Amino acid sequence: MISRNVEKIPPSGIRKFFELVIGADDVISLGVGEPDFVTPWEIRESAIYSLERGYTSYTSNYGLLGLREAISDQMYEKDGTFYDPEREILITCGVSEAYDLAIRTITDPKDEIIVVEPCYVSYQPCVTLSGGEPISLPTSMEDGFVPTPEEIEQRITDKTKAIVISYPNNPTGATMNKKRMEEIADIVSEYDLIVISDEIYDDLTYNEKHVSFSSLNGMKDRTILLNGFSKAYAMTGWRIGYLAANEEIVDGAVKIHQYSMICAPIISQMAAIEAIVSGEKGKMEMIREYNRRRRMVVKRLNEMELDIFEPKGAFYAFPSIKEYSGSEEFSERLLREKRVAVVPGNAFGECGEGFVRISYAASRETIIEAMDRIGEFLESLKR
Ligand code: PLP
Repeated sequence: MISRNVEKIPPSGIRKFFELVIGADDVISLGVGEPDFVTPWEIRESAIYSLERGYTSYTSNYGLLGLREAISDQMYEKDGTFYDPEREILITCGVSEAYDLAIRTITDPKDEIIVVEPCYVSYQPCVTLSGGEPISLPTSMEDGFVPTPEEIEQRITDKTKAIVISYPNNPTGATMNKKRMEEIADIVSEYDLIVISDEIYDDLTYNEKHVSFSSLNGMKDRTILLNGFSKAYAMTGWRIGYLAANEEIVDGAVKIHQYSMICAPIISQMAAIEAIVSGEKGKMEMIREYNRRRRMVVKRLNEMELDIFEPKGAFYAFPSIKEYSGSEEFSERLLREKRVAVVPGNAFGECGEGFVRISYAASRETIIEAMDRIGEFLESLKR
């Protein structure tokens, strides 16, 4: 009954693994990629107030102009790039929808989309569903999980339409420096490509300020920039994000969005305005706390002598467990024997094999207990 494209895509490696966790008592989960914080109170309160005032209707397909203006101002402040709120910003149901729209807007059958891996689980499947061909570009711990210009160039053919990047990265915590971005930008111009840049973790960097791909010289017009409120403002359940690009792309994306979603929920849009207006303090507190946890996790994993690349952004650590076993076996045994859930690295692409993703979006007490158990588990494997 189902289409060939649907048949081709695998179920999400994260979901598959979490079927095992659901219903299991006393499991400590460092698996899910979502903040353990509740959305800051000012934001929740503003949503309650919007409901009280009767905001319960559809909005423009593009989203509330007030929200687009707030986002445009915020982007200008952060990156110095101006997006016209009337024509170049589309409010979506999370970055998940924004990514799907970006792919469907630009992809013709058999077009090739280069996907830098390891990466968020939807990147390849959405390309397949739109009739395109995802082309994997694996990265390695030795290269800081960042692709080289040569690796990109090797994968470019006359069918290549775009390249998908996401820094700070899920699952590795890697960031990409400006110099490397500029080298990639040169290739993007030379081969007339589009960059889909998912910058959902842009606020969550710990040692350096994030550079947006679209802020590079000549790149605004070639970039489809995706961002949202799920991570930095702890708003995963509100389903609110945005796509920023040139007018032609936004016009194309809104056509799909109007037939599939109509608009993002008005309550979430009102809450997102409040997040930009008054969410800064809450956001900074959460970021400081993530940073403390990050240092704690890295220290503990180092003490366990696991090969680990220091994460510089997002809220994940991605240690290598190659010397012990494969990713799935390791994660399954850790869950079974020590009741700790992490995600096998191969859920994020084949090059993630031999790693596990540990989310530190969990309380410090939870992290301490989980690290103790992981330490005991490793000891038991050595015996
Ligand atoms: N992009 C990346 C890189 C993510 O890690 C996630 C969630 O984990 C998403 C997008 C989905 O975000 P949203 O909740 O805005 O749909």
